[in-house]
Amino acid sequence: MANCAIVGINWGDEGKGRMVDLLTQDHDVVVRYQGGGNAGHTVINEKGKFALHLLPSGIFRDGVVNILGNGVALDPENLWQEICQVRGQGVRLTPENLKISDRASLLLPWHRDLDELEERRLGDKKFGSTKQGIAPFYSDKYQKKTVLAGELFYPAHLKAHLLDLMEWKNLTLTRVYGAEAYTEAKLDAWLESACEKIRPFVCDTGAFLRQAQEAGKKILFEAQLGSLRDLDFGIHPYTTSSNTTAAYAPIGSGFPGAKIDRVLGVVKAYSTCVGEGPFVSELFGEEGDRLREAGGEYGAKTGRPRRVGAMDLVATAYGVQVQAATELALTKLDVLSGMEKIPVCHAYQLGDEVSTTFPFPTALPAARPVIDHMPGWQEDLSNIRRWEDLPQAARDYVNRIEQAVGCPIRYISVGPERERIIVKY
Ligand code: GDP
Repeated sequence: MANCAIVGINWGDEGKGRMVDLLTQDHDVVVRYQGGGNAGHTVINEKGKFALHLLPSGIFRDGVVNILGNGVALDPENLWQEICQVRGQGVRLTPENLKISDRASLLLPWHRDLDELEERRLGDKKFGSTKQGIAPFYSDKYQKKTVLAGELFYPAHLKAHLLDLMEWKNLTLTRVYGAEAYTEAKLDAWLESACEKIRPFVCDTGAFLRQAQEAGKKILFEAQLGSLRDLDFGIHPYTTSSNTTAAYAPIGSGFPGAKIDRVLGVVKAYSTCVGEGPFVSELFGEEGDRLREAGGEYGAKTGRPRRVGAMDLVATAYGVQVQAATELALTKLDVLSGMEKIPVCHAYQLGDEVSTTFPFPTALPAARPVIDHMPGWQEDLSNIRRWEDLPQAARDYVNRIEQAVGCPIRYISVGPERERIIVKY
């Protein structure tokens, strides 16, 4: 099996982590290429249950090298905490199996403050940020107002660079938001408590990836969030601040020449969405509450209840197209067991028009879901391992999704544990 990108087709939280954990058995290197520690990937395997935020989901397999590429928002404090936590759960993490790109930009301490201050300023108009500093970080990255991880090897230069940035950022903090200014002492503490700790992991990961490819190693690219949160193709402005698409993987991983042979899109068997913004197939009241409880739909990072909705074929077909997915994994099908009938949103009503085309973001809040219902099933699916053994109603549901979105569903997951999976072909 060749290089593969595992990406989200919807709004994130589709279960990408469990698919990366599964597919690492066929790969040698796993790379996170965008985003930060603002979302969580949940992985359950023989080593325990883990909520990963920035670490690639391949860290549990012996012999797999994990890389944080130049495209990620590298928060040294949070990353170090996560490393300590995962090590505390018995996972081996060394510079041999975890490598950080020297070209990754550092999320600086004030980025989180700025996120918080801006959400507070927005009040009712807030975007529902996770307040991890991701948007301020990416803005500064593109303004070239942050530092690269590789600068940790040049302490005198680094200190002068950071002091320059601090002087500039203090203007915004104090004059725009009336917040406290940063001091050199605070920066020194951050350098010592977090940056020094992660420095041993920093190296030229681009060179490592090129050599790995030449040696015939197989690379897995792991994305965060999903198509609809992509900075360029998502539901602007309720997107994240990076590209969640597979096409960005070669750039964000530090290996621009990478060839991606498979794009595995992960789709949840129903819809969920965290934070603000239009969510056309949203279910409210008892129907929504029931699905939220059955699926345990609470944020891995924030604990926030996720908004839940019917399978949205319009958004999912668009997500598949944006990712150029070559195959799909449908997760959490087990959660739908016990429903008498299952709602499916197969079109949007916009004024007088009914359409299956995903609209321009500005038109999205006015879209109304066109929903029909499919027969449900009562059986518990969690011990089923073969497609033929699924109840007919479950197969009909999967087939309908496959047809509507125009991409084969290869995997169907029926539980969070590694082995609870049906491989269809
Ligand atoms: P990610 O960010 O895309 O990796 O998704 P999350 O980890 O945030 O959300 C997926 C959640 O669903 C996690 O709690 C998983 O353990 C869980 N999960 C994944 N696949 C399945 C499945 O097939 N069935 C059930 N019941 N839970 C699943």
